[in-house]
Amino acid sequence: MSKVLSDLIESLKCLPGVGPKSATRMAYYLLQRDPDGAKNLANSILNSFKHLGKCKSCNNFCETTICDLCSDSGRNNSVLCVIEMPTDLLMFEQTHSYNGLYYILMGRLSPLDGVGPKELAMNSLYERCKDENIKEVIIATNFTKEGDATSTFITELIKDLGKKISRIARGMPSGSEIEYTDTGTLAQAISERKNIN
Ligand SMILES: [Zn+2]
Repeated sequence: MSKVLSDLIESLKCLPGVGPKSATRMAYYLLQRDPDGAKNLANSILNSFKHLGKCKSCNNFCETTICDLCSDSGRNNSVLCVIEMPTDLLMFEQTHSYNGLYYILMGRLSPLDGVGPKELAMNSLYERCKDENIKEVIIATNFTKEGDATSTFITELIKDLGKKISRIARGMPSGSEIEYTDTGTLAQAISERKNIN
């Protein structure tokens, strides 16, 4: 096999859930069936790395220092919802039941995978929660073992700040992930959130 082709297959394996077989199939598909799509994909990836940075306030990807959501004066800046991934933000926004701000951890504590407080930059979260405008922190990590452990860690971390701390309600089945929850259940979970400090 050509070195260039095997490099492409190797690169595709960085995608989640893609093993050697799928990577090989994808490579042939891109080269044979959709060369324009492949070029667009390559350009979009390069473009993203060139232009996207992290919002200084919420950690989400954006092209400006502070993202549109964080700088929207129509949002309630006294509530901060801590979530694991940007996909969770999209889910909460779809419920139309939350108008506060977000902080995205970009993961969850998972010591077995080498993800500790340092990898998630928990000190940045602490700094964000210190903001005097923020009166309540809603912890909306997933109801998985790691999500619960992350929630407990954050509660301990910020409790000295004297803010109200709440956790979204368990309207969701245990072990469930926010990204895969229907918007009705999620809307209920946030409106019935429980105070945990
Ligand atoms: Zn932001």
